[in-house]
Amino acid sequence: MSNKEIITCPKCGEKYYLIEENYPMRDKDKLYCEKCDYILKDWDAAVIYYLEKSKIVNNN
Ligand SMILES: [Zn+2]
Repeated sequence: MSNKEIITCPKCGEKYYLIEENYPMRDKDKLYCEKCDYILKDWDAAVIYYLEKSKIVNNN
């Protein structure tokens, strides 16, 4: 099972897809913004996260 959501870096505004997947072992890790190294996600649970660059246009 996987889950995909859109996140925006609060520091530089870069948009990513955050993909969450169940993982059989407890994992402790972090994901950083590729642009500014802001910690976008940190976790300590039986899941794993990936970032995918998005081409989402901000319509606001
Ligand atoms: Zn950033």
